Amino acid sequence: MTRAFDEDSAFGMATRGIHAGQRPDAATGAIMPPIVQTSTYVQQGLGINKGYEYARGRNPTREALERNVAALEGGRHGFAFSSGMGCLTSLTMLFRAGDHIVCGENVYGGTYRFFDKIAKNFGLEFSFVDTRDPHLIEDAMTARTVALLVETPTNPLMRITDIEAASGIARRRGALTIVDNTFASPVFQNPLALGADIAYHSTTKYINGHSDMLGGIAVLNDDDLAVRLQFIVNAAGAIPGPMDSWLALRGTKTLALRMRQHDSNGRAIAAWLEQRVGSDRVFYAGLASHPQHALAARQMSGFGGMISVEMQTREKAAALLGRVKLFSLAESLGGVESLISHPASMTHASVEPARRAQLGVTDGLVRLSVGVEDAEDLLADLDQAFAGL
Ligand SMILES: *Cc1c(COP(=O)(O)O)cnc(C)c1O
Repeated sequence: MTRAFDEDSAFGMATRGIHAGQRPDAATGAIMPPIVQTSTYVQQGLGINKGYEYARGRNPTREALERNVAALEGGRHGFAFSSGMGCLTSLTMLFRAGDHIVCGENVYGGTYRFFDKIAKNFGLEFSFVDTRDPHLIEDAMTARTVALLVETPTNPLMRITDIEAASGIARRRGALTIVDNTFASPVFQNPLALGADIAYHSTTKYINGHSDMLGGIAVLNDDDLAVRLQFIVNAAGAIPGPMDSWLALRGTKTLALRMRQHDSNGRAIAAWLEQRVGSDRVFYAGLASHPQHALAARQMSGFGGMISVEMQTREKAAALLGRVKLFSLAESLGGVESLISHPASMTHASVEPARRAQLGVTDGLVRLSVGVEDAEDLLADLDQAFAGL
C-alpha cells in the first residue's frame, strides 16, 4: 500500500522485477513478502472474511508473484501454476471437445506430448504446423479453430515465429493467440505487446533462475478471460505452493540482471562455436547468420543463453557431453549454472524418431543452456572439450 510506483509499467524491467506486486508487510514492515504457509483462513462470521477463504483459490505469496510477473509482461492479470505443464493443462481447459487448436510443430516436447497423448482423448483436435510461415498458420485454421499456440524461439532449434503476424491471423479468425515465452523471458520479449492474448512461462527456467523449484505462470489482459481462468485455477487446482511462489518471486528480483549476463555469454559462445564448426551447424537467433535474425532482432531485445550445436554423429555428441567439465549434463535450462543436454534422448525422447527427424532434432544435436559464469571459463571448457574430440 505504501509503494507509489507499484506495478507501474513506466518503470524498466529491473525496477519492476524488484518492486512490482510487493509491499512491505503491513504487520511488521518486513521488506520481503511473507511465505504465507496456510491451507485455510479464519472467517469473521458466516460470509464475512478478508477475501481469503481457502488457499486453492487465493494465497497472498502467490498473488505477489502473479502481480510481479504480470507487470514484467505488461499484462493486467497473472495466474501462477504448479509447473509449466500445469499451466498449459489449465489453459487447455478454456476449450471444449470439438474445438481445434493450431500448434507450432517445434514446441517443447512435453507440450506436444500433452496435446497428442492426453488432450486429444478429450475431443480436442490439433494441427501441428511450421509457424515460421504465416501462410501455413492461415491454411491450418478451420471454422472450429479456437486457439493458436506458438513457442518462439523454439526448443531446441531456435526457430522464430512472427508473433505480430501470427496473432493478426488468429484474431481475424476469432482465435486466441497463446505464446510460450519461456526461452526469451519477459525481459527480452513481451508477446502481449505484439498482439498475443496469453503469454505463459515455465517459471522453472529463467524466471526463477536457480534450478530449485518448478512452476508456471500465464499473463493476460482480457478481464473475461481472466475470470474464466481464475475459475479453472480454483476448480482444477494446479496451483503452486507458497514456498515455490516465494522462490520464483525472489528470482525475478535479479531476472533483468541475469538475462543481461545470459545474453552476453550466449553471444560470445555462439560466435565461438560458429568459428569452430561453421554457421550452418550453430542455432542461435543472435547470430547474424541465423536465417531469421532480422525478425528476432525486431521482436526481441536480447537473445539469451540457449544455443544448439549440431555435431556430425551421436558419438561425437556423446563425446562432447562427456568431456565438458563446467557444463553439467542435465535436462532443464535457464538457471545460473551452465547445462548441456542431448535433445533426441532427453527433452525430445517422447517424440517419435520419424517426427524428430522431420523436425531436425538429429542424434548429433547438442543443446547448451549458457549460465552466468565468467564467459572466459565457459569458453575454455568448450575449447578443451572440442580439442579432445
Ligand atoms: C520446461 C518447459 C516447459 C514445461 O515446464 P515445466 O515447468 O517443466 O512443467 C514448457 N515450455 C518450455 C519452453 C519449457 O522449456
